Amino acid sequence: SGLIVSFGEMLIDFVPTVSGVSLAEAPGFLKAPGGAPANVAIAVTRLGGKAAFVGKLGDDEFGHMLAGILKKNNVIADGINFDQGARTALAFVTLRSDGEREFMFYRNPSADMLLKPEELNLELIRSAKVFHYGSISLIVEPCRSAHLKAMQVARDAGALLSYDPNLRLPLWPSPEEAREQILSIWNQADLIKVSDVELEFLTGSDKIDDASAMSLWHPNLKLLLVTLGEKGCNYYTKNFRGHVDAYHVNAVDTTGAGDSFVGALLCKLVDDHSLIEDEGRLREVLKYANACGAITTTKKGAIPALPAHPEVLSIMNAK
Ligand code: ATP
Repeated sequence: SGLIVSFGEMLIDFVPTVSGVSLAEAPGFLKAPGGAPANVAIAVTRLGGKAAFVGKLGDDEFGHMLAGILKKNNVIADGINFDQGARTALAFVTLRSDGEREFMFYRNPSADMLLKPEELNLELIRSAKVFHYGSISLIVEPCRSAHLKAMQVARDAGALLSYDPNLRLPLWPSPEEAREQILSIWNQADLIKVSDVELEFLTGSDKIDDASAMSLWHPNLKLLLVTLGEKGCNYYTKNFRGHVDAYHVNAVDTTGAGDSFVGALLCKLVDDHSLIEDEGRLREVLKYANACGAITTTKKGAIPALPAHPEVLSIMNAK
């Protein structure tokens, strides 16, 4: 099957060993490897697809640990650079009482932010059938230039561009800057996935409806997806739009649900771009992606919770 190249950050989330406490109250932390683009790459390989990760890690124990996790999961690691000076990024994460996650980042600067355009493995990027990215890699130079170059190279080589902004407001200088920069590469994507929260943020509307989603449409876009957590997802194409319900599961940690959803979708899309034009087939794929997202919420952490194909079939058949 075709190669999916996922570009951006990989880091370690430090998650309190007990839930419902503030960072200061936490008695200890567990390492939870993550970073949305890395999660997406592993989501793809777990489902049997082919993926590579492109990004930079610190030349330290954490960086090599993360690269090892990618390799153990059969993600092609030839696009990873190690920075000699900066550390692998860390984030401390608390779950607020309303269930939303709150982040405190250690990036001053971290290795991921220091990827340079000339360090890109262009041969690997040119071999992508799908090139996937977020917006965290746009925040500072030189990573921003590396991101823009990688996107261009992938597009010129014929890849489908897939964008999941993955808004992390605390990393941006201001909300205005976040919105402007996230939208600055909007029109280049073939496929965009936003969450309900991101839809509200980007449109400035407090409504999660078709009108606000369509205000994010651009003429070159092929597929826009709005994920709605336990409510499933909405899809928009040039010719049709609709909704696919989620699966009912006992969610314990939603981290990585969106990345699992995206990985599943890209896995199906990479060898058959035409399924976007067929609503019936697209709906089947979105059911599959919803099942992957749902399964991911049933276990703690993102990477350990990403499903393999048989698990997905079993929850789909149980319904
Ligand atoms: P993330 O938590 O990774 O940032 P996200 O906000 O990008 O996720 P969500 O909308 O939370 O994305 O989840 C993606 C998909 O996963 C949803 O469309 C849905 O199908 C599934 N999902 C998420 N949460 C639940 C849940 N509580 N129950 C069932 N399915 C869920």
